[in-house]
Amino acid sequence: MASEIRRIHEDLKSKKYTCTDLIKDKLAQIEASDLNSNNLVLTELALEKAAAVDAKIANGEEIGLLEGIPFGLKDVYLLQGTISTASSDMLKNYKAPYTATAIQKLLDAGAIPLVRENCDSFGHGSTSENTVFGPVKNAIDPTRVAGGSSGGSAVNVAKEFTTFSIGGDTGGSIRQPAGYNKVYGLKPTYGRISRYGLMAYASSTDCVGPFARNLEDILILLNIMSGKDYHDQTTIKTEEVDAAVLEGTPEAKKFTVGYYKSFIENEALNPEMKADFMAALEKLKAAGAEIKELDFYDVDTLVATYYMLAMAETASNLSRLDGTNYGGREDEKVLKDGYMLSRSKNFTEETKRRIVGGNQVLSTGHAEEIYLKARTLRTQIMHSFDQEFKETDIILSPVAPDLPPKIGENLKKPLSMYLSDAYTVGFSLGGLPTLTAPVGTEIGMQITAAKGQEQTIIEFAHLLNEVL
Ligand code: GLN
Repeated sequence: MASEIRRIHEDLKSKKYTCTDLIKDKLAQIEASDLNSNNLVLTELALEKAAAVDAKIANGEEIGLLEGIPFGLKDVYLLQGTISTASSDMLKNYKAPYTATAIQKLLDAGAIPLVRENCDSFGHGSTSENTVFGPVKNAIDPTRVAGGSSGGSAVNVAKEFTTFSIGGDTGGSIRQPAGYNKVYGLKPTYGRISRYGLMAYASSTDCVGPFARNLEDILILLNIMSGKDYHDQTTIKTEEVDAAVLEGTPEAKKFTVGYYKSFIENEALNPEMKADFMAALEKLKAAGAEIKELDFYDVDTLVATYYMLAMAETASNLSRLDGTNYGGREDEKVLKDGYMLSRSKNFTEETKRRIVGGNQVLSTGHAEEIYLKARTLRTQIMHSFDQEFKETDIILSPVAPDLPPKIGENLKKPLSMYLSDAYTVGFSLGGLPTLTAPVGTEIGMQITAAKGQEQTIIEFAHLLNEVL
């Protein structure tokens, strides 16, 4: 499918409709929706920006490719002057004092922010039910969850409320909801897009990335948001992805495609999805790709390693939220009691579970046994990826073991929620770029490559569109 960003750009230039009409239409659809995908609609800001775009067009001025394009942002990004809640009571009245770098780049290019999107609180979850704004409903089957944590963003793109949305992915939060709602979702290489202004969950795996309905929009957005940032010292310099990879028919025979036996043999994998996945591999093989079966860690090891580290990091990141600086304040006679009350009243149960778990993992006497062991395992996992990518261009995997659960089903079973991340967290630990494409199985397929190889991923996804 061709770029919708380009289509809207051409429509605006040829005055097929005005930007104000476009934005009003999207806002009306959002207001009429009962999927609960949005925490805050930015009506005034969006209409003001749309009027400015229309004025430029009326004056005969050139407009940039992104000018007037409506987008959504997960409610964990700072956007100056807007209430930025992380779907929590703790930050329910917190007004952002500055704008996240990635979002600023989109604003500078002229894109129009429409909504702040519902998500699991602080990114903690895989269903977008852990939110004080109520569960997000799946775009295809509203009795099911949207996935998480960036569920609202995936739903908005699937329902065409936004042209694209910006999610956050720590352990799968873009890829899994993208699969559950049948859209594209990219987690770039760690450090490619600045995290400045993204509320931190687990800083060593947090990534900013786009959701869109086609590959070219993903590519355009990746190129705009990438780059080194003085405010985030983990950012790296990267090459632009060349849009030429989407032209013509890609050649299957240039790809060596690996898949993990442990993922496919996992008992939790839905049998129909397994059959569809294997059938997709067969088609690739028939088209000329080389297919390789690879050994990897079992999913339990991956999930345990990820959660040990993610909980430890979130416990330290969230320690700054004690009610004094960012709102959510509960006063008591003794200051320390005030902190305690603020935190116990204003964090969700799931967030508290993670803070308690994380502090346990980091505590004296346990840190060596648990936290440092997880760090060692992570290094081994990264090493294993380095080895694989010497002889493999792409690792293809399922996105999640099963279809999205029914709303409410996982809330009482945190362990099954954690296991639904089985296929995404390993690549996060590796800092690798990875994309969900809505092809192959009912909830899509996950395409991963070596660090910095987003272009290979996009080219391969283009091939999948031809072959499957
Ligand atoms: N579901 C995973 C978790 O809860 C991933 C979340 C995310 O990527 N933010 O940690």
